[in-house]
Amino acid sequence: MKTYRHFINGRYEGGARTFETQNPATGRRFGLAARGSKREIGMAVDAARAAFEKAGWADLDGRLRGEILRRVARAIRSRADEIAAVEVADAGKTVGDARAEVEIAAQAWDYYADLTQSAVGTVNSVPSPDQFDYTIRQPMGVIGIIIPWNFPFVLTALKLAPALAAGNTAVLKPAEETPATAGLLGALLNEAGVPPGVANIVLGTGEEAGAALAQSGGLDKLVFTGSTEVGSIVMSSAARNITDVTLELGGKSANIICADADREQALASAAFGCLLHSGQCCCAGTRLLVEDSIYEAFLEELARRFERVRVGNPADPRTHLGPIISERQLKRIEGCVASGVREGVQILTGGERLSGPAKGKGFFYRPTLLGGARNDMKVSREEIFGPVLTCIRFDDFDEAIAIANDSPYGLAAGVCTRDLAKAHHAARRLQAGTVWVNTFNGLAINAPFLGWKQSGIGVERGVEGLHDHMRLKHVRMDLSGKPLAVYGE
Ligand code: NAD
Repeated sequence: MKTYRHFINGRYEGGARTFETQNPATGRRFGLAARGSKREIGMAVDAARAAFEKAGWADLDGRLRGEILRRVARAIRSRADEIAAVEVADAGKTVGDARAEVEIAAQAWDYYADLTQSAVGTVNSVPSPDQFDYTIRQPMGVIGIIIPWNFPFVLTALKLAPALAAGNTAVLKPAEETPATAGLLGALLNEAGVPPGVANIVLGTGEEAGAALAQSGGLDKLVFTGSTEVGSIVMSSAARNITDVTLELGGKSANIICADADREQALASAAFGCLLHSGQCCCAGTRLLVEDSIYEAFLEELARRFERVRVGNPADPRTHLGPIISERQLKRIEGCVASGVREGVQILTGGERLSGPAKGKGFFYRPTLLGGARNDMKVSREEIFGPVLTCIRFDDFDEAIAIANDSPYGLAAGVCTRDLAKAHHAARRLQAGTVWVNTFNGLAINAPFLGWKQSGIGVERGVEGLHDHMRLKHVRMDLSGKPLAVYGE
């Protein structure tokens, strides 16, 4: 059994203190991971600081920095099968999703490699030719990064690549449920020639290593992806040091199905929008708002589709959905569904664990459709983070928009309609960082991703994601050769 270790200052470290990582499809131990503490976080932050200030990463010609990042992408592609296999076992990803995500991670490194040379400033207009005035963007320094378990390897890339492309150095802590692929990354960073200390990885729990990183006074920025609850805690920790934050948090995204929608597009958007990675996706469309005149027929057909979804061994290429990440998360899903039933929803399909010899001790839940919900119920307001779709009926378009916006979250939203005007109105009025029309869950590395309201602060992906890791500076120069006229002189 492998022990995954910290990667600090270009070397693998630790391993005396460990914790177990579990394969969610079997419930059995998959590996051991080093358990980082304040000590390892301190070592990693110091290494990152030294690499930023003394090793010259920030001042390296962007072209050379870009070449190193491109070599990281190449190293990832050369080990893609191994990384994907580890992700299947450690995170319960289906083999198809795992392979696709390794490639998305490589593309993220490539994309930000291309941006290392892009213009980073503007020249501002001046009142006289004797002045020159410009704005530049500079790297911030040391970036602390904390990520969740649902997209482990993709998120290492989406966070580290823009941080490094901007000239920063970084310390990343993966989730305790899924430390393995982050544990593999260190060797690939060395192979690509990333200088020691530029990217450091400390494994461990949230309460210990995560809290130590969030509380560190040595960071210039803290980037966190995870639940809104923990986001609020890390933001308070960062506030004590006035550390800048980017937060990508939870969601309860609404998907509005209008009566005029193309039926096949709408069914696919509803099913894929909710079920991707067994619903363990921050932007999942977990509130389905269906127009009254098609409500019954639409849900009947959707229930049939949910029943055809193959849930099981994620290593089998025929499997559509793999396991839930842990027994704890499975119990949480069961608790949410039970609370919905107590509040009066009907289980149209699913609503139970999947067990039996083929499932072993793994954590599987049947795709579940809850009908007859109201937007004030717990199943409509809280993230369930499982394959559970809450369905709410609406009468007219304005009401649908109001229900969609009546949520503490604002990560994403969707609308299915053939009416172009309705689609544009929805795109403008929905309070969310991403709006999908006749589709769902489509993200791109070159387009921004961000949460409104309690779904986040700051932005990732795109050029905006690069700028989010840089500080602005304004420079004013006097070219006249004359002193400033001060105090009447
Ligand atoms: P989580 O908030 O429990 O944990 C996220 C990370 O924070 C983990 O690495 C964990 O170890 C760490 N952590 C936990 N307690 C901490 C503390 N006190 N101090 C510092 N760090 C701590 O989230 P999760 O269960 O791993 O992931 C699921 C959540 O992530 C969902 O709410 C989901 O919506 C959200 N998410 C959001 C996005 C996005 O881009 N908006 C993407 C993926 C996941």
